[in-house]
Amino acid sequence: MIRYSRYLMPTTKETPSDAEVVSHRLMLRAGLLRKVASGIYNYLPAGLRVLRKVERILREEMDGAGALEVLMPAVVPSELWKESGRWDAYGKDLLRFKDRADREFCLGPTHEEVVTDLVRREVRSYRQLPLTLYQIQDKFRDEIRPRFGLMRGREFFMKDAYSFDANEEGAAESYRKMYEAYCRIFRRMGLDFRAVEADTGSIGGSSSHEFMVIADSGEDAIVSCVVCSYGANVEKAECLPYSAPVPGATKGKPRKVATPGKRTIEEVSAFLAIDPATLIKTLLFETSVGDVAVLVSGAHEVNEIKVKNHLGAEYVRLAGEERVREMTGAPSGFAGPVGLSVRTIADHSVRSIASGATGANEKDVHLVDVVPGRDFIPEGYADLRVVREGDPCPRCGGALRFSRGIEVGHVFRLGTKYSEAMRAVYLDEGGRERVTVMGCYGIGVGRTAAAAIEQNHDDDGIVWPISIAPFEVAVIPVNVKQADVMAAAERVAADLDARGVEVFFDDREERPGIKFKDADLTGIPVRITLGEKNVAAGFGEIRDRKTGETIRVPLTDLANEAIALVERKKAECAP
Ligand code: ATP
Ligand code: MG
Repeated sequence: MIRYSRYLMPTTKETPSDAEVVSHRLMLRAGLLRKVASGIYNYLPAGLRVLRKVERILREEMDGAGALEVLMPAVVPSELWKESGRWDAYGKDLLRFKDRADREFCLGPTHEEVVTDLVRREVRSYRQLPLTLYQIQDKFRDEIRPRFGLMRGREFFMKDAYSFDANEEGAAESYRKMYEAYCRIFRRMGLDFRAVEADTGSIGGSSSHEFMVIADSGEDAIVSCVVCSYGANVEKAECLPYSAPVPGATKGKPRKVATPGKRTIEEVSAFLAIDPATLIKTLLFETSVGDVAVLVSGAHEVNEIKVKNHLGAEYVRLAGEERVREMTGAPSGFAGPVGLSVRTIADHSVRSIASGATGANEKDVHLVDVVPGRDFIPEGYADLRVVREGDPCPRCGGALRFSRGIEVGHVFRLGTKYSEAMRAVYLDEGGRERVTVMGCYGIGVGRTAAAAIEQNHDDDGIVWPISIAPFEVAVIPVNVKQADVMAAAERVAADLDARGVEVFFDDREERPGIKFKDADLTGIPVRITLGEKNVAAGFGEIRDRKTGETIRVPLTDLANEAIALVERKKAECAP
């Protein structure tokens, strides 16, 4: 049993000024966390208890899925990162330094290299596969904008797991197991989450899901289908081609019209009095595979990630004013596909424009009555636009809805990117050497705790799901100077403690108002209050932090009733 008078949980009334999101504010106010430097924190005793509880659930589910716990170092030699090619590719998030012998190291932001090195040394035969290793370990990423407390720190704990399989089928099975373990983990934490399809980016693996805790403060935009279970990060969400053509004006030959100073979709469509959906917007990109023009209906936006993936490019960036002039012969705002000599790709939305308007590649001039496929022929049509709310679901046709989410976990099929580069090979049944197929799986420990607060709080403070609460029951003697009250409180606290309940005993000589406020702020799910009158009459009170519901119970039943409430709350966090 923890006694508040002997504990370090420095609650504060003031709202810290630099804390922008509620979880950060409440973690500071509840005395769970203190900042040491930007994105770097001290975890105080109650805060650490929360993290340990998150970790315990992670361990149980990882062990349950057959993964083996290891611990890799935070300090990683540059050689491994050079082998994978990421020493140069990773950028400034990677904190690099030298030891006294001038050898280069980094603080590991993720551990694909280290684990692949371990496995290539220890695994020789197909008999040792599949193998999934995990750790819960301190990561460092020199984030550009550390913020929101534990949500985006620089030094943070991550549960990272890595699977090694003999082939793609095995890798798919390992991925499925981790995906299911993740669902159990977040259910056990009582979180409202969604697993959404995510972009696999330059790694180009076959699949990736992000686990998003639904919260308005989330940094990620996600779409989900109101009918089926489809969900995706907005960057990734697929858009179906339109089925109905968008009507345009007449189908005569393209005609030039003067559009002095009209560059944007709004300006041009208003000036020409046409529907923006019939404008063929032309964006010019410089990419690692050369200059590219991307066409999209004026009603839509180009999704650069889709363009990049479609081209198989390392990078794509919008061309600046100078380059636009070189490519089109006109200032920006007047580009169009007719007669353009730049490689051109078009979004599906362009194909359904029966007759549209577009830039004429001439200053202050646009073309109207332009027919895609007749007046210009793009190299191909593809899904290149940003999804919009209400678009049809690519799986079932239902409407897509937008929401915001906090990415708490990420599962990723890596394929052979690392095992190939670092030669993590094994001998198959025929004695042939083969490359292992990998997957990687991360969960941020602190970010998950913060996300839980974003989802579970009210005006008075945190409302912890019981599975990750620092304590289960707070026992509050209203006045510690009254012997009867104190004796009753000691009795029930000791009883609960003996029966395995995590008790927080507020034995401070403080005013009742302060004790109640602190109990609400710190979010302990069940509160037992012992006041003078009630105790004299042989009663105590049990209050549910979440609902505010309070019951008056005979002292002899207090512990049993409190345990019953704890059990009900635990059942809410069933996997
Ligand atoms: P983000 O897009 O938010 O930067 P990421 O894609 O870089 O995340 P991963 O590399 O997939 O994240 O890391 C796995 C998990 O580690 C994330 O799902 C998240 O829970 C956690 N995480 C990542 N970066 C941070 C950070 N700066 N602070 C706290 N947790 C983090
Ligand atoms: Mg990141």
